[in-house]
Amino acid sequence: MSTISKILIANRGEIALRVLRACKELGIATVAVHSTADADAMHVRLADESVCIGPPPSRDSYLNIHQIVAACEITGADAVHPGYGFLSENAKFADILEAHGITFIGPTAEHIRLMGDKITAKQTAVELGIPVVPGSDGEVTSENVLETARKIGFPVLIKATAGGGGRGMKVAKTEGELEEAFNTARTEAAAAFGNPAVYMEKYLGKPRHIEVQVVGDGEGNAIHLGERDCSLQRRHQKVWEEANSPALNVEQRMKIGKICADAMKKMKYRGAGTIEFLYENGEFYFIEMNTRLQVEHPITEAITGIDLVHEQIRVASGAGLSVTQDEITFSGHAIECRINAEDPRTFVPSPGTITHFHAPGGLGVRVDSGAYAGYKIPPYYDSLIGKLIVHGRTRVECMMRLRRVLDEFVVDGIKTTLPLFQDLVANQDIANGDYDIHWLEDYLARTSA
Ligand code: ADP
Repeated sequence: MSTISKILIANRGEIALRVLRACKELGIATVAVHSTADADAMHVRLADESVCIGPPPSRDSYLNIHQIVAACEITGADAVHPGYGFLSENAKFADILEAHGITFIGPTAEHIRLMGDKITAKQTAVELGIPVVPGSDGEVTSENVLETARKIGFPVLIKATAGGGGRGMKVAKTEGELEEAFNTARTEAAAAFGNPAVYMEKYLGKPRHIEVQVVGDGEGNAIHLGERDCSLQRRHQKVWEEANSPALNVEQRMKIGKICADAMKKMKYRGAGTIEFLYENGEFYFIEMNTRLQVEHPITEAITGIDLVHEQIRVASGAGLSVTQDEITFSGHAIECRINAEDPRTFVPSPGTITHFHAPGGLGVRVDSGAYAGYKIPPYYDSLIGKLIVHGRTRVECMMRLRRVLDEFVVDGIKTTLPLFQDLVANQDIANGDYDIHWLEDYLARTSA
């Protein structure tokens, strides 16, 4: 067992702060890294030490592997937590750290690679007994695209093998739309990922997005912590997440959870991971696995009482999981709202200085944010400035609490998505838990006219 005594957090914003909090609770020293644009950030102020790793653009700072390794060497950090985004799913980064004798708090480079390519991920899922969306056997080319689509049946979805963030994804409803969808998806994939390869899936009309949280110890033990429903999306970006899903009952939850945990045991997966599914007519269809902590992990923490970053650090140091499956209970309901510095209707980013900031409080309320009054949001990074997580004993109580809490939250000086959540919490479909992955876009189109 390798003890970890100092962790370098290779990230910024609310997630850097969140990881730092876990380290402090475990008595582990912290090193923050930051670009010149983030010198005044909260994660830098609260860390034991900090190192400036470069100018504002991510590729020169938060994605600069050499600078980050150098920062580890200078500070004597023995482990790195990558947060989400940036280098969190970069197998080369995990390899380089290992070569330097630094622990990567995450899965093996091999598992990152396996799940990073969508086609091998899907093949692996099939081998591990996870249900998948019907689709092509591997890559589709101009030679087999028509034949494959006819076999699967229209509508079909063309997706980038190297995909992420919904880019390089195109629907063809009919044969007539196929060629254009295929070509556009390839062009977009080449531009976004430097790899034009695409594959094909049956396009599901009204699915929900349901994902299962897993954690493995790398020795063949693994647990699941139930699911999250992230169906409320805009341009494939999650906006509002819930745990548990309003669409599942206990039997369904435990069944899909067990399938995922068993798969992780077989793989000897190490670390936290999320297995994402589309869910339609009672069936689950695997779409991808994320080999890292997710933005929306706090709702799982709220209903299980388990700190996922503590678990990540434990398994990375060889200390094993702190709980067995039988000890995990699901209590109440939690909702997360992603607070972005964006116009609540057009979603155009709104960087600038926050003039007033007041976070709500009270029972069942968690705000993960590095924002404060006077904080200047740099224009270089994503627009997430905080996450509001509300927990209640029932979904109704959680919604009532969320309504109260949204009224208390003050962020002045910039535009935020808070008003959108005030609309959503008052909406009847949302109150009924009656929505799919298209609901939010339809709603925005309907109400923005
Ligand atoms: P990415 O890695 O680009 O985010 P995913 O495979 O995770 O791609 O899919 C992102 C989103 O695209 C899903 O949450 C869902 O909204 C939609 N999607 C993906 N596959 C399908 C499908 N077969 N049918 C319908 N919608 C899909």
